[in-house]
Amino acid sequence: MIDEQQIRKIVESVVSSVTSTGGASGTVAPAGPAPSMPPRIIPAVTTAAGIRGRDGVFERMEDAINASKRAFEEFAKFSIRDRERLIDILRLTTRDHAEEFSKMTFEETGMGNVRDKILKHKNCAKNSPGTEDLVSRSWSGEKGIAFEEFAPFGIIGSIIPSTHPVPTMVNNIIIMLAGANTVIFNPHPGAKKVSAYALEVYNKSVVAGGFPENLFTCVKNPTIDSANTLFNHPDVPLLSITGGPGVVKAAMATNKKVIAAGPGNPPVLVDETADIDNAAECVIKGGAFDNNLLCIAEKEVFVVESVFDRFMMSMEKAGAVRMDELHLNLLVEKVFIPGEKGGHVLSRDLVGRSASHLADLVRMNVPEGTRMLFAETNIDNLFVMEEQMMPVMPVVRVKDFDEGIIACLKAEREYRHTALIHSSDMRRITEFAKMLKTTIVVVNGYSTQGDGPDDGEAYMAFTIATPTGEGVTSPRNFCTIRRLAIAGSLRFV
Ligand code: NAD
Repeated sequence: MIDEQQIRKIVESVVSSVTSTGGASGTVAPAGPAPSMPPRIIPAVTTAAGIRGRDGVFERMEDAINASKRAFEEFAKFSIRDRERLIDILRLTTRDHAEEFSKMTFEETGMGNVRDKILKHKNCAKNSPGTEDLVSRSWSGEKGIAFEEFAPFGIIGSIIPSTHPVPTMVNNIIIMLAGANTVIFNPHPGAKKVSAYALEVYNKSVVAGGFPENLFTCVKNPTIDSANTLFNHPDVPLLSITGGPGVVKAAMATNKKVIAAGPGNPPVLVDETADIDNAAECVIKGGAFDNNLLCIAEKEVFVVESVFDRFMMSMEKAGAVRMDELHLNLLVEKVFIPGEKGGHVLSRDLVGRSASHLADLVRMNVPEGTRMLFAETNIDNLFVMEEQMMPVMPVVRVKDFDEGIIACLKAEREYRHTALIHSSDMRRITEFAKMLKTTIVVVNGYSTQGDGPDDGEAYMAFTIATPTGEGVTSPRNFCTIRRLAIAGSLRFV
């Protein structure tokens, strides 16, 4: 077995050149490839139009698709163990570049904060499931044997968000390539530089490890047109969509299989049996993480009247800063701009901004390092009903648990994404999970405890397929299941 030290050497030897060199044509695999693969010359990928990308980054979507087709055929020659070795390279590369990718993302998008972004990259590197998820099934009896195996779909078209461009990209690469697929990204235009840069770094690393180039590709300048080319191309049988309602709807309008990870607006219910201090600490811990960019993050809180004041005091005790109604309404006016066709539009410039930046906008002084603002309001406030992705927590008073459930249902807007409850009453917790029907329910904890083993249990994904029902995605969701039946023999006992 090749160990981490060897993988690191391979990765370091080539990745160090990523910013200084152009794409190599005919890349030589380095010394020390996997025991199962001899060193070999990897041919340059030339598309039908004769155009090749730079380390997986293409000018035209058509060329990215052609290169991906060639890479898919090459990749089929590699064993499942090789794929696991490839995944190890991706994990290590992500860990080594976590800080760099995080800083670049922050510089390009202006959203969130570098400290939490580093954690997101490391979480993906460590906890995205690999080939171990693809456990085949078999049956045997007097009529013979049947096996079921996970086979690749082929080329997957993937849309990734601006909120966590590189973590979603590497999580997708790991869980899609585990099943021997290749993947083409149409990154978010607002994060295109860091997405292309990271994809180059990853391509260099895996090519250095003896794998074909272009197993994952992207376009340099993603647009709605390039997304549509990807959506409608006959050689792309599966679409993976991680984003807001617009892109999910657009992908669903194709006749393809879609795995869609759509928006959320996770409500939190706190009842009178809860540990109130813990509830407040959890709301801040989950809701302030990366300035509330996560789709699973706490977005609004409903608190039963008898413990409402205690909860508000606990929020202050835990470091959040309380806003009065006047300041909250001033912020509503800044965050939700009147739309051209009526209604309102979320000001993208304010998504993921820090609590102190948002406080400044409404001339509020807050102590340095404030992670969250919070305010009492009613359920119809736009901060409650819209997925605003900011560290501003609206808190709404409800009469009792029953009224709280109704309020949570309304605020969750049938996204079926994530909901959280703080209670020590098992009957109520069960009822809450039954009624909300969300993909993830977190009980007496904070949101990231529902997505992976750094904070909670199970594996993690950055593509949580809510409208299409796959849930927290893993390699098996990106595979077809094929059965081999042997009639009348091979049962040997
Ligand atoms: P977004 O919807 O603005 O953009 C996502 C991608 O879709 C971008 O690449 C964008 O260019 C593209 N796009 C948008 N409209 C399109 C259309 N009509 N046709 C083709 N492509 C289109 O997303 P964002 O603001 O960057 O990300 C935040 C959203 O993503 C939030 O709603 C969040 O909840 C959601 N999200 C969900 C998950 C999940 O796992 N369920 C994970 C992360 C983010």
